[in-house]
Amino acid sequence: MRKSLIVGNWKMNKTIQEALKAVKALKNEIADVTDIEILICPSFTSLYIINNEIKNSNINLGAQNIFWETKGSFTGEVSPIMIKNVGCSYVLIGHSERRQYFYETNKTANKKIKAALLAGLIPIVCVGETLREKKENMTFKIIKKQIKQNLVGLAIGDASSVVIAYEPIWAIGTGKTPTSNQIEEIHFFIRKIYDEMYKNVAEKVRIIYGGSINSDNISEFMKKSNIDGGLVGSASLETKVFSRIIKYSRF
Ligand code: PEP
Repeated sequence: MRKSLIVGNWKMNKTIQEALKAVKALKNEIADVTDIEILICPSFTSLYIINNEIKNSNINLGAQNIFWETKGSFTGEVSPIMIKNVGCSYVLIGHSERRQYFYETNKTANKKIKAALLAGLIPIVCVGETLREKKENMTFKIIKKQIKQNLVGLAIGDASSVVIAYEPIWAIGTGKTPTSNQIEEIHFFIRKIYDEMYKNVAEKVRIIYGGSINSDNISEFMKKSNIDGGLVGSASLETKVFSRIIKYSRF
């Protein structure tokens, strides 16, 4: 049985004070949630203080990025060990904004995934097609390539702990989403690729959806058997909205 995972990706938003205020409020709102694993990914500067705030709560902590080396002369980078040390259990890898603005590739994502796993972090690996690729009916081909290249060289045990986030790029921050049936079809396809790559792992892997999730559409998505949760961007910035998403089954 896969436990659903709902992730708030705060991106480059919220100062330390704003992040602390938001997490305090979130903690109260979702204190009684036990059926969903809750994860927030604030910016690096807020990780330490938020980790102190969420101790003994049902909120987990994740980073939005890491570098693949453990230490050394890499000005401006943060290592997987540092992220683990500050209290994170998860890290986002290969988000489309990293690929678009910081030239990350499947190859660099693969290095980061391996480094994250080595440090004891669970990578949430983001894949998804652009609008052009969708229009040219390349979605399945692109997803297959991304999954294969991102996971290349991963041992079976590691591959089963990775979370895959299917995030069609055209759906991120646009208010547009695929239908729940379309997402389900792609998640099923990702599970099939996993099955080709690893024995008896596909059913264990959590595959979450991201792209313009809100408190109105989440329950439709979560009805599908292959949608194991959501990666939420802008709607996670408002505590009331984000907690409504987390508690979708009660509305
Ligand atoms: C994201 O950036 O991962 C995301 C899903 O953003 P939004 O929810 O704003 O579309």
